[in-house]
Amino acid sequence: MRSLRSRLARSNGAIGKGLLALLSQGSLTEEDWEDVEDTLLAADLGMEPTTELVDSLRERVSVDGTTDPEVAKDWLYQDLLKLVDPTMDRGLAASRVDGRPACILVVGVNGTGKTTTVGKLARVLVANDRDVVLGAADTFRAAAADQLETWGARVGVPTIRSDRDGADPAAVAFDAVKAGHEMESDAVIVDTAGRLHNKVGLMDELAKVKRVIEKQNPIDEVLLVLDATTGQNGLAQAKVFAEAVNITGVVLTKLDGTAKGGIVVAVQRTLDVPVKLVGLGEGPDDLAPFVPEAFVDAIVG
Ligand code: GDP
Repeated sequence: MRSLRSRLARSNGAIGKGLLALLSQGSLTEEDWEDVEDTLLAADLGMEPTTELVDSLRERVSVDGTTDPEVAKDWLYQDLLKLVDPTMDRGLAASRVDGRPACILVVGVNGTGKTTTVGKLARVLVANDRDVVLGAADTFRAAAADQLETWGARVGVPTIRSDRDGADPAAVAFDAVKAGHEMESDAVIVDTAGRLHNKVGLMDELAKVKRVIEKQNPIDEVLLVLDATTGQNGLAQAKVFAEAVNITGVVLTKLDGTAKGGIVVAVQRTLDVPVKLVGLGEGPDDLAPFVPEAFVDAIVG
């Protein structure tokens, strides 16, 4: 997996540069503080964390009044890191446990990068010598199973699918987990459908997939895939999914093309679960574990 710091520095570094330029100019006017606030809001940090950060910085400036960019940089690093919360457990349950495979359910709205994330995650696990089975439980989009199967072939893992459009997603998920047991796999990753326009239908479907999987195997991870570029809209989606399933971690995709890295803080606060992985491009190696220190470092620059 590629380094988070180097991949994010280009898009997110701009936030830190803007803030540091303001902070190290000495006595800040009300207007300057508004600029600091606007910069943080533009990065999708959210109102509450922005207020907390600005209050903390104002306090530091009033006590110290430094114009030393290195000192300001250190403050910003510490305050941002606190908001990103390095104490959350970001480990991924992806190893065989109690003589059964780990089961990872991947949920999210279509277009967020769910299928791509399943493929990239399989690649990471295979690179770590794990045997993986993929389940194509997004049976509503004709191309979805084909897309997942292509990823499976690329990564060298089997994909369990139905050849029938509109097949029961829970049945496919069940078959994938069954195959995982038979093959004594380390992990089964199940891709699901994400048609958010029909909220009740989606929630019922996810609940059924979950119920049916749990007849054979506990679910170890439910990863919610969110597109970092969708801002508040993504947060609204997250809440809907959190009502349907017990989310254990978030994968924030498309962080490569956006300076809206602040969404990490907003997502974690909204769901009270950690961002565990980030998508940094469309290629097979463009998935990275989320490391708070590296992330904040990339923002502060
Ligand atoms: P799904 O409908 O949620 O399964 O979404 P897909 O996996 O089909 O991805 C939708 C589009 O987003 C595709 O063009 C992917 O290549 C692209 N994509 C997925 N993840 C990332 C990422 O981390 N960065 C970028 N730039 N594009 C991504």
